[in-house]
Amino acid sequence: MPSALAPERTRSPRSLLRQIREAMAVGDAAQARLDRVVRIIATSLEADVCSIYLGRANGELELFATEGLNAGAVHAMRLRPGEGLAGLIMRTGQPLALADAPSHPAFSYRPETGEDPYHAMLGVPILRGGRAVGVLVVQNVEERAYTEDEIDDLQTIAMVLAELVAGGELVGQDELRELDFAPQRPERIRGQRFAEGLALGRAVLHERPMAPERLLADDPQLEETRLQRAIRSLRAQIDDMMGGQHGLTGLPFEVLETYRMFADDRGWNRSLEEAVRSGLTAEAAVERVRSEHRARLSQAPAYLRERLHDFEDLADRLLRHLMGERPGVRPLPENAVLIARNLGPAELLEYDRTHLKGLLLEEGSNASHASIVARALQIPCVGRLAGLRDRVAEGDAVIIDGDEEQAHIRPRSDVLAAFASRLEVRSQRQAEFARLRDVKAITRDGVEVAILMNAGLGVDLETLDQTGADGIGLFRTEFQFMVAEELPRLDAQTELYARVLDRASGRPVTFRTLDLGGDKVLPYMEAEREDNPALGWRAIRMGLDRPALLRMQIRALLWAANGRDLRIMFPLIASVDEFRAARRVVDRELNWAVRRGRPEPATLRIGAMVETPSLLFHLDALLPQVDFISVGANDLMQYLFAADRGNPRVADRYDILSPPALRALKTIGDAAAESGTPVSVCGEQAGRPLEAFTLLALGFERLSMPPAGVGPIKRMVLSTDRDAAARGVAKLLQSSAGSVRGEVETLARKLNVAV
Ligand code: PEP
Ligand code: MG
Repeated sequence: MPSALAPERTRSPRSLLRQIREAMAVGDAAQARLDRVVRIIATSLEADVCSIYLGRANGELELFATEGLNAGAVHAMRLRPGEGLAGLIMRTGQPLALADAPSHPAFSYRPETGEDPYHAMLGVPILRGGRAVGVLVVQNVEERAYTEDEIDDLQTIAMVLAELVAGGELVGQDELRELDFAPQRPERIRGQRFAEGLALGRAVLHERPMAPERLLADDPQLEETRLQRAIRSLRAQIDDMMGGQHGLTGLPFEVLETYRMFADDRGWNRSLEEAVRSGLTAEAAVERVRSEHRARLSQAPAYLRERLHDFEDLADRLLRHLMGERPGVRPLPENAVLIARNLGPAELLEYDRTHLKGLLLEEGSNASHASIVARALQIPCVGRLAGLRDRVAEGDAVIIDGDEEQAHIRPRSDVLAAFASRLEVRSQRQAEFARLRDVKAITRDGVEVAILMNAGLGVDLETLDQTGADGIGLFRTEFQFMVAEELPRLDAQTELYARVLDRASGRPVTFRTLDLGGDKVLPYMEAEREDNPALGWRAIRMGLDRPALLRMQIRALLWAANGRDLRIMFPLIASVDEFRAARRVVDRELNWAVRRGRPEPATLRIGAMVETPSLLFHLDALLPQVDFISVGANDLMQYLFAADRGNPRVADRYDILSPPALRALKTIGDAAAESGTPVSVCGEQAGRPLEAFTLLALGFERLSMPPAGVGPIKRMVLSTDRDAAARGVAKLLQSSAGSVRGEVETLARKLNVAV
């Protein structure tokens, strides 16, 4: 053995890690390296025994290397799941230090190892991504108590071993596949569809366990300084967010408070510092501490496990501070399926859209803006997938099955084959929708329905022609603001709106003025913290209180129209006065533009979104003031049922196919018809065949929906007899049930409607 590799007797974990690193530089077989590593650890920790056990995929724990026990037991000795002290450590994910191991009730005597003479034992789990994948044990003949420092050092070493094993440095690649290093079994998780579609791709974790590129520090002093600096800037960022300075995508106050509590937590900080002092880089220290927390909290009661998510986020943020990451476009590999607990719309838009195939969420809700963005991007999204993040590893093959509302992780070959044939069927269906592209949506009894599209990004414009929509019923102007790194200027706004009108080539486009606030937060704009953002300072309320932004937007719209037809709509109007005030802003801007010689729009139509219940009781006053209205059913439902559309706990508590919701919609539709005011529905529901069928039955003839809805809704309209549908649905309005979804389905089936 080269002398440089002779194990040194040293109590310093840093020099021990250096020796391990040197051992890795030798081009030996994996097992020889592993044998050398246990020798180094035993020598430097003055232990009589050092053994490494690794978990097999079948749950057994196998002795992979030992210094001190019988060499013949290596690869021969296997413990059943939970067997013996090593099994206990593996199961609990916790270190175990015993002065006299044989007297512990879990001790299991295995004569083949020759461990009779040893009394003291210290074992730590080898953790990867918070899961115990093996156990590292040292033993001493004499009874002795191991110190906290020794326990800590062994944990640092275990973390390094985990990465070296996973990197194929200490076990062969074939063997690695047999180990339980990453979740390996195929899994199917059921959830909810947030955006329709099918996709197959590779998992990319949003909250990524950013594999520390350098585990071992060259200069520990420098690492400590980096860590301290990153913690300081993390704390400052959290304080900023709490103080309402530029926040990161609308985190609730309680979450921020928890963050601050953790960020200030002495235990957390001390663990990080100790990990760095033991010779890890700052990044590796964050990983190690995170992994230990995960292991500990995964055993905890459910309410504490919830906190784990906060810790994970915090660790991620700290890593991003360490890596000096700036907000901007986040690159993705090809065919990426993004995996996240939950996402804000702006976070989703940060990712490189050209490679993004789909989105899987552990939580999330259908009406949240991230789901809306997913639908706008036409990528499938399934959410509410329990335990998702613990069950997927970076790079795993995943199938998003929007139709069946489920995800397959590491699918078996038969699942893949079945999926391929469904893709085929789907593309045939898409071909059928494509054939409908130029067909007008007219019901069997002759009612022509306008099928409009919701849009908001430049990429949507492509889909306008592809789908054959009759126009854009809702252009969400705030999306441009959400993808930008700073406030889009007048010329950037004008340019986008002009491009939209160009592409629409005469088809109507309804531009909605900025609808920010709620869950739509701009990272570069100051926002005050609010207890109830959905009920807070958002949409037109902001526009009227800070009219400069609204004025600039109206100006951009007038310039972009440049003499063409223009339709402007205001979001979240809650009182007729608000509409009047907003309309005055347009009038003033129009006068100003005309005085400067700009052409007036050929026609200028100004409308209100009906998405607050208050308007239902003042439609007689509102309707004469507006040129059109559009029902924002997403928000209207949230306010009608007092259920936050972005909160998964309450998002399912109501059904739009329920008598109160349908009566509210009918009230609006009837009042508009009576006054001759054009009315559309532009919530997400308008894009779902069964819901759209019901809207049609209630009398709505203009529906605006996500692009993927256009084909299916056209097909539904073509197969519907509107009169018969209206008669059937009218009866259901009298029901006392909380939902009449089943009855609507039966009706649609009876009438042979394609839903
Ligand atoms: C709505 O609320 O229904 C709507 C269309 O607007 P948004 O989803 O953008 O709030
Ligand atoms: Mg709305």
